[in-house]
Amino acid sequence: MSSETTDPVQMLERELAVRAFQLTTPRQMECVFCYVDRMLDDFGCDNTLRWAVHWRELRAPRATSLEKRLASRGGYCDCEIFLNGWTPSAHAVVYDAETEDWRWRDPRPSCFGVRRGSSQPCGLWMPLRRPRW
Ligand SMILES: [Zn+2]
Ligand SMILES: [Zn+2]
Repeated sequence: MSSETTDPVQMLERELAVRAFQLTTPRQMECVFCYVDRMLDDFGCDNTLRWAVHWRELRAPRATSLEKRLASRGGYCDCEIFLNGWTPSAHAVVYDAETEDWRWRDPRPSCFGVRRGSSQPCGLWMPLRRPRW
């Protein structure tokens, strides 16, 4: 018996599953920060580090201290990584007078890449300086 299905609902479900997998797979050499930033654009934050953890599972399973490192800069969920912890480097952003906010250069610079297994940010990111209490 073949496992192939001709049921259109099942075929659509399979297609969607493949598509979701493709959309949420880190690009080659993509660093965890560029990946999470990209996923937040498309899927948003669910108040956990799901994208950071997903990246780790696929790209750097041994980087077990990743969450701790993110949390140490206030990144307790995916979006907080960028609210509290890290920000795009100055050369990667431009000031938008209309929104009075910084935004990525257009087109958005793609990840500089990190070596395999590294959970460090690529050169597009820098730590946010936080005031010392
Ligand atoms: Zn969040
Ligand atoms: Zn990157």
